[in-house]
Amino acid sequence: MKADPAAQRRLLDLQAIDTALGQLAHRRGALPELAEIADGTKQLTGLSDAVAAARADVDDLGRDVRRLEMDVEQVRNRATKDQQRMQAGGLPSKELERLQHEVDSLARRASSLEDDELELMEKREEAETVLAAAESAKAAVDTTVVAATERRDAAFVEIDAETDKRGAERAAIVPNMPDDLLKLYERIRSTSGIGAALLRARRCEGCRLELAGSDYAAIKKASPDEVIRHEECGRILVRTDMSGL
Ligand SMILES: [Zn+2]
Repeated sequence: MKADPAAQRRLLDLQAIDTALGQLAHRRGALPELAEIADGTKQLTGLSDAVAAARADVDDLGRDVRRLEMDVEQVRNRATKDQQRMQAGGLPSKELERLQHEVDSLARRASSLEDDELELMEKREEAETVLAAAESAKAAVDTTVVAATERRDAAFVEIDAETDKRGAERAAIVPNMPDDLLKLYERIRSTSGIGAALLRARRCEGCRLELAGSDYAAIKKASPDEVIRHEECGRILVRTDMSGL
């Protein structure tokens, strides 16, 4: 294949742009924030469940405490009524005795219910501590995810702007390239990542190998518009002032 030497040299610009575009795409996909966000989001699911479970415990215990409070109140009201009846007087001694007995029994019942209530209130306090810890763990991960998302978005903006810039540079070069040369370049690049490499002194910058003496001698003799490929790696070897020919 033959191609204008200037077009061959432009392959190096194209290759530099394509290398940069490849690095940008890799950077975009490998941002540490992506793993951080995925990990945090997964953690948040578990933490949300923990918060919901802890809140349900607090609510349940709160309901139990209120129920016991009502029970205590009922017992105390009953005892007050009994006492009022006793104080009103005019009751037969047997009835007085029965009421006194009931008042004593109600007092024991109230005291036992209050013990239960106290125990439940302690449990509710413990559940509130568990809830607060779950909420604060969730809030911490939330904050981490929000911050990582902001950093990711900022990096995306920067990478996308650079990608657009490089894309525009590429679009300016491609229409001025001979079709067959461009096709060859793309074909090699699609398999090995690098389609065209500078011949620097006697070294192929694509594969970093030094050219064999006979290959180098052949290149020295080749016409400038001849498209030369490195025997070893198959890449297009571009000759410039730095090739030492
Ligand atoms: Zn090579």
